[in-house]
Amino acid sequence: MTNFALIGAAGYIAPRHMQAIKATGNRLVAALDRNDSVGIIDSYFPDADFFTEFERFDRHLDRLRRHVHSDRVDYVAICSPNYLHDSHIRFALRTGADAICEKPLVLNPWNIDGLLEIEKDTGRKVATILQLRLHPSIIALRERVRREAITQKYDVDLAYITSRGHWYLQSWKGDVKKAGGIATNIGVHFFDMLHFLFGDLQENVVHYSSDTKAAGYLEYQKARVRWFLSVDAEDVPAAQIEKGQRTYRSITINGDEIEFSGGFTDLHIRSYEEILAGNGFGLEENRTAISTVAAIRNAAPVGLMGDYHPFLA
Ligand code: NAD
Repeated sequence: MTNFALIGAAGYIAPRHMQAIKATGNRLVAALDRNDSVGIIDSYFPDADFFTEFERFDRHLDRLRRHVHSDRVDYVAICSPNYLHDSHIRFALRTGADAICEKPLVLNPWNIDGLLEIEKDTGRKVATILQLRLHPSIIALRERVRREAITQKYDVDLAYITSRGHWYLQSWKGDVKKAGGIATNIGVHFFDMLHFLFGDLQENVVHYSSDTKAAGYLEYQKARVRWFLSVDAEDVPAAQIEKGQRTYRSITINGDEIEFSGGFTDLHIRSYEEILAGNGFGLEENRTAISTVAAIRNAAPVGLMGDYHPFLA
């Protein structure tokens, strides 16, 4: 049985990690969060130790590491806000554990370089949650793209609108220094997926960027992509609103819709299965997506020029 610790246990995504640890037959032995609303732990690991202070958590894990102990931590799962990921990864590795980190791995590509050094120094590994790479429809699409001999690049339109209430901009998720902005916090899944499907990034143009939406154009080896992301409920198309939906997701390739609305629920479990089998997505596999979102964050939007997403008009 493999032992886990978890940082950010009171948050939204932490229960998916607890579920994945349980589903893969392993144990959560210790958890940390500054917030003590962590009753959810009882649903999965009622015997886990819990800390609200980093220093006590550190002391506890260090004690387990130094003494031969059945609770010695093998993996630290990191579910904290984005800007803390690299620090929490360093802690995990120095503590003698491997790290499993939520997306986005870090906010800037140079943070990856520092982590590669710590991996080398400690001999421990970082694995990341890039769950769309494990989605059956995306895997099938990747196979298709690899198989098809194309004479010109695919034309891809990607729109993702996932409404968030007023809390969003008041929380760390709405703070660009902590979350990286909407393209980083919400979009990184898709930018990683596009790289996974269509190869290296060649061009990156931002047409529009605000706290609640962003849009641009990306050109990959095999695709030209117009993208639009929003957390503003006003952007949800009328047809979806009539059905009571607050989310809209559409990806078309040469005009054909790619269907992948289902199949999302177990992807954290699938991620854990692969990581535990030694097939996790490591630091370098994040570089293209992290460079893409960092460039989008720092770009000066060009406005409605060139190949912009139709939702911007
Ligand atoms: P959240 O705000 O709900 O949870 C973050 C938790 O971290 C909070 O409980 C907070 O108290 C805790 N925290 C903050 N600072 C801390 C510190 N210094 N030490 C320990 N704990 C600290 O956010 P969330 O939605 O659960 O997101 C957490 C991470 O998971 C983010 O990186 C986010 O991007 C990622 N995420 C991934 C997915 C996915 O589909 N893979 C979905 C949502 C979120």
